[in-house]
Amino acid sequence: MTKPVGVLSLQGDFREHLQAFDRLGIPAVQLKVAKKLSDVAGLVIPGGESTTIAKLSRIFNVLEPIREAIREGLPVFGTCAGLIMLADEITDGIEDQETFGGLDVVVQRNAFGNQLDSFEIDLPFTGIDGTIHAAFIRAPLITKVGAKASVVASLEDGRIVGVQQERRLGISFHPELTDEDRIHRYFYDALVCA
Ligand code: GLN
Repeated sequence: MTKPVGVLSLQGDFREHLQAFDRLGIPAVQLKVAKKLSDVAGLVIPGGESTTIAKLSRIFNVLEPIREAIREGLPVFGTCAGLIMLADEITDGIEDQETFGGLDVVVQRNAFGNQLDSFEIDLPFTGIDGTIHAAFIRAPLITKVGAKASVVASLEDGRIVGVQQERRLGISFHPELTDEDRIHRYFYDALVCA
């Protein structure tokens, strides 16, 4: 039997991710406790507030188990706050802000400032034909990409908003909020089922 995708459901827009998988006919379940990690074939870290997700992950004892599962090869997909949680290094975090890590990148929180903190655009995405629709909400930017990660999405001016590293995917925006389901499909087909 195929295992479902888990969606970390401590804070943020985990329901919208579950709905996206539902529209695609891909089995997906909420994940809140570490012992369920062995029941899922991949894990989504949703958008929301990375400082809260980090604190709750520590409180609910999933921080170390998720780190370990990622190290051992669990496919992961983070959107916005989820990207921050997957970064090996962050800037403009709160003091001692923790991440799961897994992506060899530096991610800057709230990188777009106040004036342009929310916007939607269409942009190309490596592995998907045409353009995808991207909604940015108080979004982070990937300011440095290490040797292990590769860029899959950038803005017209070259700023990087998506990276992949083996079976790990992190993007600055929120496909789950705009019915842009092709990235969830890509994650499942190319990273989870690969
Ligand atoms: N600014 C948020 C953070 O630092 C991310 C915003 C989002 O997920 N839409 O976690």
